Amino acid sequence: MSSAPLFGHVALIGIGLIGSSLARVLRRDGLAGRITGCARQEETRAKALELGIADAMFEDPAEAVAGADLVVFCTPLGAYEAIAKAIAPALSEGAIVTDVGSVKAPVIEMLTRHLPDTVHLVPGHPVAGTEHSGPEAGFPELFDGRWCILTPVEGSDPAAVEKVRAMWTSAGSMIEVMTPAHHDTVMSITSHLPHLIAYTIVGTATDLEDDLKSEIVKFAASGFRDFTRIAASDPVMWRDIFLNNREAVLEALGRFSEDLTALQRAIRRGEGDKLEDLFTRTREIRRALVDAKQA
Ligand code: NAP
Repeated sequence: MSSAPLFGHVALIGIGLIGSSLARVLRRDGLAGRITGCARQEETRAKALELGIADAMFEDPAEAVAGADLVVFCTPLGAYEAIAKAIAPALSEGAIVTDVGSVKAPVIEMLTRHLPDTVHLVPGHPVAGTEHSGPEAGFPELFDGRWCILTPVEGSDPAAVEKVRAMWTSAGSMIEVMTPAHHDTVMSITSHLPHLIAYTIVGTATDLEDDLKSEIVKFAASGFRDFTRIAASDPVMWRDIFLNNREAVLEALGRFSEDLTALQRAIRRGEGDKLEDLFTRTREIRRALVDAKQA
């Protein structure tokens, strides 16, 4: 006799790279009796149905969440508030509401304001992704061996946290629990700042004169190529990340600017030992990442 799925009905609001990857995990592992989804475009809804990753798709998020015992926000952060307002009256009592957003503190504050206190809010962030978007970009192994950070709010029901944890564990993720503010600080350094730097470098290159630009494409493999992959990430998603994690990103950017100025001075003064010392330390970080299987 097969056991009951972890969730009777999961509603995914947004079914792009992350939402559709999660849907594929739910299907693969039999974690949901029913999966409904929500997307604005008819094309996205049709694609999700064609891929078989949702049983029904809706344009109206309130229709998608009706009767769901787990609701997952999987849209860009800028869409959250309107969705929260729309679904609030339609949420089942006792439902768990979680998300996959890349910024936590301001988003949680906003969700707490709009969602009824009859639901359990258990925010999350799978630290996994690619530069691709949309329902076809997803794959079930995306979260395998990657961290998923849970940032439960004060008074979160432990049973609800456990169920969200069980879902991500089934996806192959390692779970870390931290406060929303700490999450946002850590991500500002490990994810948001590197993206900002990549956007800047690629932006600088696109502003060059035409003859130099063609050389950049030709010789990209010498370092520039890796930045172009990061800078190809979804513009709306990243706009919303920087607008929402403003304080932590500005703090990280301030430190980065100081370090960059120090490097600039070392180069100008011909201080090779300073350069070599830094490059040796950074190499060790890379080795630690490889050892931790996070490379
Ligand atoms: P994505 O591939 O662009 O997918 C976004 C999905 O949301 C699409 O299905 C889109 O469909 C739908 N959507 C957008 N606005 C909507 C709205 N107002 N109402 C209903 N549906 C809406 O984006 P993603 O990469 O999966 O990112 C989603 C979330 O995951 C973001 O909050 C991001 O911070 C987080 N995240 C991303 C990554 C990453 O590397 N990509 C990693 C970790 C976490 P329509 O256009 O048809 O509406």
